[in-house]
Amino acid sequence: MSSSGAGTASAAVAAASSSSASSTAASADAVVVGGGVIGLSVAWRAALRGLSVTVFDPEPGQGASHAAAGMLTPVSELQYGEESLLRLNMASAERYASFAAELEEASGLPSGYRTCGTLAVALDADDRAVLKDLHAFQERLGLASAWLTSRECRRLEPMLSPAVAGGLHVEDDHQIDNRRLVAGLLAACARAGVTLARRRVAALVTTGDRATGVRLDDGTAVSAGQVVLAAGHQVNGLEGLPPGVLPAIRPVKGEILRLRVPEPYAPFLSRNVRGVVKGGSMYLVPRADGELVVGATEHELSDTEVTAGGVYELLRDARELVPGITELPLVEAFAGLRPGSPDNAPVIGATALDGLIAATGHYRHGILLTPVTADAVAELLAAGTVPEVVRPWGPQRFAAGPHAADIPAAAGQAAGSPRSKPRSKEASYA
Ligand SMILES: Cc1cc2nc3c(=O)[nH]c(=O)nc-3n(C[C@H](O)[C@H](O)[C@H](O)COP(=O)(O)OP(=O)(O)OC[C@H]3O[C@@H](n4cnc5c(N)ncnc54)[C@H](O)[C@@H]3O)c2cc1C
Repeated sequence: MSSSGAGTASAAVAAASSSSASSTAASADAVVVGGGVIGLSVAWRAALRGLSVTVFDPEPGQGASHAAAGMLTPVSELQYGEESLLRLNMASAERYASFAAELEEASGLPSGYRTCGTLAVALDADDRAVLKDLHAFQERLGLASAWLTSRECRRLEPMLSPAVAGGLHVEDDHQIDNRRLVAGLLAACARAGVTLARRRVAALVTTGDRATGVRLDDGTAVSAGQVVLAAGHQVNGLEGLPPGVLPAIRPVKGEILRLRVPEPYAPFLSRNVRGVVKGGSMYLVPRADGELVVGATEHELSDTEVTAGGVYELLRDARELVPGITELPLVEAFAGLRPGSPDNAPVIGATALDGLIAATGHYRHGILLTPVTADAVAELLAAGTVPEVVRPWGPQRFAAGPHAADIPAAAGQAAGSPRSKPRSKEASYA
């Protein structure tokens, strides 16, 4: 981004924000609607390519990106039928180390990227059989994972229950602290000259067959060369979106806990632990700084209330896996809304409307998919092309078939099936 462009846009947005309704003020090469990990990372990477970028979000970084666990686990979360999505997930995982290093350099902040690996364990014979199936599937796809006996699992993680019946060790499935990631992206955006305006976008503005900007909630119009929709599960709420340019993105509620590991118990766990407990799955993600994230429920709901039932289920199942967890202080219970597309895969790319780009629907993998999404959308904004690995995931894939909710979900949940389901269809083996 040219600094003069940034300055102009910044000043203009500030002026626009205080001007009367329906006035037209600021302009930018690109306007990004939504400042979660997706919108912020796109803005940062686009600014590095010389574009003037403005991000609009009344609460940047406080959506699903704040709730997440930060697992980067494409292999241990592999699901049947998602082989093509695996390619995208792996492409993003592979670039994470350099992405995190660049972000740390650009922001001056730690990212919490941790190359710790993941251990997925089972508690009984049925769950063990499911994990064995997953292992065979991973091997058929040439993915690196190792089957461990119960004793080997407990040698790696001594706090695991003696009831653990074996598990899968995936050395290359890592984690990042998603809240540090947001903080780093905010700082990197500021340093790269991105304008962040804490304002809600009410509408997309179109001129003829082209997106030409947005209208803010006070009526201020902002013109833009291109508009990127990165508003997570709220993306369909914009007025002025022509029908059919985006599939319906639905909220999928997830409750998640944060505990603290006091010094005498450290490290408690040394790697991500995923577990199958009575057919449902859950995970524990230990940070280097002593935070332990325990997640997550999954319900087709749109509220962000933390329920007693959700907290109970998570702690009950976590205790089955790691009995000592009851000794740890519970610091936070939180709920966020994952953005889910009709096939539960991300929607990244140019829409049928010129000048309008989608970057949403990242569902359970938005933290993992941040680097590949950011670079793809930045390339699209700057050069008009999309890397080959991202091409299958454009919004156009929904255009030919039934629209939105009529498309059966890839994870096996057809639209029209119950909108609420019990916890933990998070893992491939759930
Ligand atoms: C409990 C839980 C656990 C998860 N764990 C993981 C994990 O371990 N690994 C992983 O990869 N992913 C995980 N995810 C998924 C991941 O968090 C999401 O896929 C990702 O955060 C989506 O990012 P986003 O930027 O698209 O959405 P969000 O973070 O929700 O950001 C969207 C932003 O858009 C803004 N916005 C909305 N409407 C407007 C508007 N009209 N104008 C301006 N701004 C607007 C909102 O304020 C918000 O800040 C988890 C999610 C949850 C809920």
